[in-house]
Amino acid sequence: MELLHFNGPVWRPPFEATSQLLQVTAGCSHHRCKFCSLYGTQKFRMSPMEEIEEDLKVIQVYQPRAHRVFLTGANPMVLTFNRLADIALLIRKYLRDGQPTIGCFARITDISRKTEEELRNLRQLGFDYISIGTESGDDDVLVRMNKGYLSADIVEQCHRLDDAGIHYNLTYLTGLAGQGLGNRNAIRTAHVFSQIHPASVNFVSLTLFQDSILYDEVKRGEYTPATEHERIDELVTLIQNLNCKTQLIGNTVSNPVTFTGGLPADRDLLIHDLQAAKAALSEDNLEQYRMNIKSL
Ligand code: SF4
Repeated sequence: MELLHFNGPVWRPPFEATSQLLQVTAGCSHHRCKFCSLYGTQKFRMSPMEEIEEDLKVIQVYQPRAHRVFLTGANPMVLTFNRLADIALLIRKYLRDGQPTIGCFARITDISRKTEEELRNLRQLGFDYISIGTESGDDDVLVRMNKGYLSADIVEQCHRLDDAGIHYNLTYLTGLAGQGLGNRNAIRTAHVFSQIHPASVNFVSLTLFQDSILYDEVKRGEYTPATEHERIDELVTLIQNLNCKTQLIGNTVSNPVTFTGGLPADRDLLIHDLQAAKAALSEDNLEQYRMNIKSL
């Protein structure tokens, strides 16, 4: 049996669960966000084109009608336009029957390095519904966490994706601002996300593991994580203030209170359910839940 090439940890958004995975990069080209331990010691690596083609030959045998291909690695969008185009053409060559669209994680800085024409061509080549780990729209949080861009960059680059017709999913990392700052983070982020058009916002609640920089800051008393009840209040504030048509997806293991719904239609219901969960679940129970999370 032929095996596909995978180096190091592989992550994908929950809604890509049925997508065919294809490794084109491994690790993260940025690798500096303080809260992140997703890729461990994995160094950023670009897959040789021969390796990608070998994998596509295997996929052609087992998933010839794949309708969606998710390119793995923290930010394949960092690859040059020419390389991404070559990958897309290979996917078309080997998976002609399924005519798959192509998804991947992207950093805001990866998008800024592409021209308008390149973005439009990527859309024509099948790239759509890409996932951007924005985490926050609060500049103080973005700087504190070494994200490498500011809220104005999020707005500018997402507008460029809008213009190119590329839909995008954003991630919001609940609790990231730290204790006492969640509501500010939510209001500032809602202001930023309301200026753009995310197809969905994926909610992950901050869960620190030992190999992150932020974990060490907690141990040194330099950062205090938000309480669990505070995080629910933060979500309520964000949902109250978010003025765009989008899907909210909070169903990963990091969310002790799961929720999904569309804005604006489900706004009141989502807020009601979150507030009811806060009233029903003690802080101790919720903290215990988070302490038992072994992996995201
Ligand atoms: S959060 Fe994303 S961009 Fe930041 S280090 Fe982790 S994988 Fe890289």
